[in-house]
Amino acid sequence: MIILMQPEATPFQVDNVLAFVQSKGWQTCLTCSSGQIIIGLQGNGQPIDPFYIEQMPGVADTMAITQRYKLASRAFRPTSTTFRVGGFTVGGMHLTIVAGPCSVESRTQLLEVAHAVKEAGATMLRGGAFKPRTSPYSFQGLGEKGLELLAEAREVTGLPVVTEVMSPRKVALVAIYADVLQIGARNMQNFDLLNAVGEAHKPVLLKRGPSATVEDLLMAAEYILAHGNDRIILCERGIRTFDNKFTRNSFDVNAIPVLKQLSHLPVIADPSHATGVQRYVQPVALAAIAAGADGLMVEVHPYPEQALSDGDQSLTPEEFARLIAAARRMAEAVERGIA
Ligand code: PEP
Ligand code: MN
Repeated sequence: MIILMQPEATPFQVDNVLAFVQSKGWQTCLTCSSGQIIIGLQGNGQPIDPFYIEQMPGVADTMAITQRYKLASRAFRPTSTTFRVGGFTVGGMHLTIVAGPCSVESRTQLLEVAHAVKEAGATMLRGGAFKPRTSPYSFQGLGEKGLELLAEAREVTGLPVVTEVMSPRKVALVAIYADVLQIGARNMQNFDLLNAVGEAHKPVLLKRGPSATVEDLLMAAEYILAHGNDRIILCERGIRTFDNKFTRNSFDVNAIPVLKQLSHLPVIADPSHATGVQRYVQPVALAAIAAGADGLMVEVHPYPEQALSDGDQSLTPEEFARLIAAARRMAEAVERGIA
């Protein structure tokens, strides 16, 4: 059960409710979502009559949510979550288009690509400064220098910046520069990191782990929500399956409508990491929009063959502009648009 307090509930009223449910043997978890305090009951306490709780001073409502993810569920919030990043709304009628290089490599590379993706219709700029690489000998990113370059690119293009944070110790640093904190696929269940971004005052782009179920992804989002941050974008980026001979991962198109059904959070698709192959990026991007995705995240590099990471899946700016033109037509077909 969760207990929703009235927005004007006093600390005394909250303490009173906490004391009552704890006296019945329940553990409690306190969250503040859009100014409203929510008390979650955990463990195996004695049964409590919701009607009794609803009569307590300061209580607005109670909800029995059967799913393990509660704050992430549509049962908790039936209307889709939308929020502003820069001048754009995420999760609304218009698709969010995040584009940019896999890694920030240099000032010239980043500024060139930032201008190009903006021109083509991107609404956010991506670029990794701290890179999770399979090999410790691969390019690991420019670190804080990369963050500074992202901030410069935002300054000149006006595009808000999405960049990955890999460690709880780096959240404060990355949050100084980033507009959206990305949690990479391989960190989806780094619970210390999820807790840390839950406490940060920045939206979070949470990527599905390559072997995570849809429910695992929602439980990961629940960690962030339970720490008070409800500005989360879920991202389907492909999973490992028995057949990853011709593509890097398998894009789980089912996950898009399933996540939209189960959760109120916006869902975007990353066809670049899902396929790992430049020529498959556009068809999968279009499939994601047709399936109801709220946006795309696409890797773009001015010279993909020279990229220090993920060149095989990176589009040139011209290819990206063509993708956007096709994405506009697909968005219209499903009664959406691109800003
Ligand atoms: C990325 O977005 O560059 C990235 C590393 O993606 P993922 O975590 O999905 O592999
Ligand atoms: Mn990449």
